[in-house]
Amino acid sequence: MDDRTSALDTAHARARDFLDGLGSRPVWPTASYEEMLDALGGPLPEQGEDASSVVDALARLADPGLAAIAGGRFFGFVIGGELPAALGADWLTSVWDQNGALTSLTPAAAAAERTAGGWIAEALGLPEDTAAGFVTGGLMANFTGLAAARHRVLADVGWDVAQRGLAGSPPIRLVVGEHRHDTLDLAARYLGLGRDAFVLVDADADGRMRPGALETALSSTAGPAIVSLQAGEVHTGAFDPFEALIPIAKAAGAWVHVDGAFGLWAAASPGLAHLTAGIDGADSWATDAHKTLNVPYDCGVALVRRRTDLVEAFAIAADYITGSSEDPMDLVPEFSRRARGFTVWAALRSLGRSGLADLVDTLAARAARFAARLAEVPGVTVANDVAYTQVMLRLDDDRRTTEAGRRILADGTAVLTPAVWQGRAVLRCSVSSWATTEEDVDRTVDAVARVVASLA
Ligand SMILES: *Cc1c(COP(=O)(O)O)cnc(C)c1O
Repeated sequence: MDDRTSALDTAHARARDFLDGLGSRPVWPTASYEEMLDALGGPLPEQGEDASSVVDALARLADPGLAAIAGGRFFGFVIGGELPAALGADWLTSVWDQNGALTSLTPAAAAAERTAGGWIAEALGLPEDTAAGFVTGGLMANFTGLAAARHRVLADVGWDVAQRGLAGSPPIRLVVGEHRHDTLDLAARYLGLGRDAFVLVDADADGRMRPGALETALSSTAGPAIVSLQAGEVHTGAFDPFEALIPIAKAAGAWVHVDGAFGLWAAASPGLAHLTAGIDGADSWATDAHKTLNVPYDCGVALVRRRTDLVEAFAIAADYITGSSEDPMDLVPEFSRRARGFTVWAALRSLGRSGLADLVDTLAARAARFAARLAEVPGVTVANDVAYTQVMLRLDDDRRTTEAGRRILADGTAVLTPAVWQGRAVLRCSVSSWATTEEDVDRTVDAVARVVASLA
């Protein structure tokens, strides 16, 4: 056997072992970062080693430092699992090693992205010609959408930012809710928009922007404006009221961007689409495929209504490349990159429109079950209005909530992650994996009940 075949055979065998063990291993890693540095560290070996034994050593050494994110009881942060078709496609993506930049060199990769981007727009009810750029995740999808926005709102006042940069440009107002995701601030920083550019708009108790406050924010300041709204607040899962907000932003001449890293997918479900009603009126949308859609890391998608706005922000010319007007590299901040469309194409083809709706409905139904069962545990309070996939719980005092969080991780049944919401310690459960069953939810609630009882 050649080196390549034996490396792949070993990877396949170790992958099967890992997947087979997901149901029984502790969900939180059993080894610390320091222990992993010991296991994987040391000086660079002088001599090489054959490929199969390297892959085998990696699988063995890394194992205790792996979180069971791909299993059904990981509810930390907002992290999806991996659909089987997307996982298989991801392996092929590595085997094929296509560079996702050019239609001429890698037409299959470019066509998969073009098709998958169109399918996403269709499933989410976005305008038909929406352009899609495939990036590493939600942060970069926000950056990409906001870069198109920055280009357009300055062009509209006669300032070509690609030519002149930002020095001396009319100042841009970036109008955001007080509960925007933190990555939005970083995306803005990449774009040369510092904190002084931010106009903060009040939100309600679950984190939804208030329409009256948006109106005031826009009318009390002047200049080119980008309004960034949110589909899915990371703690509560709350959605901004788009039908009220977007017309206000549009009346003020603003570009409207929507950060919908995991929430945008509500639009794919007839039963949940009321949460995103009106989003099709925005100019750009950012989402993740590695969260709700359950493709492996890393994959985010920037969707922009007018393709030219993206192209003007990102297209470059290089004398050794004969470009086509369809090149994926014109839609993203990267040049060479992974062909991210294959996994998304495979995920969507394996689900179909109805399967995608079922996936999103099921995540929300599991979250509702979580909330209902948690509410029955003595001493536990559900801290948000659970309308989508996010559930927060707390105990009667913050110290006990935090201690419960530590004990749940040590218990190993499931992962919930700590946070602070409205000044109180909470534990967050995000139901984001296709692999989560009702039994997973019930086992997790039982673990929470055990831990809370042990604190009493
Ligand atoms: C996760 C998340 C992001 C950032 O996405 P990454 O994929 O982690 O870069 C941005 N906004 C929201 C609302 C999120 O949930």
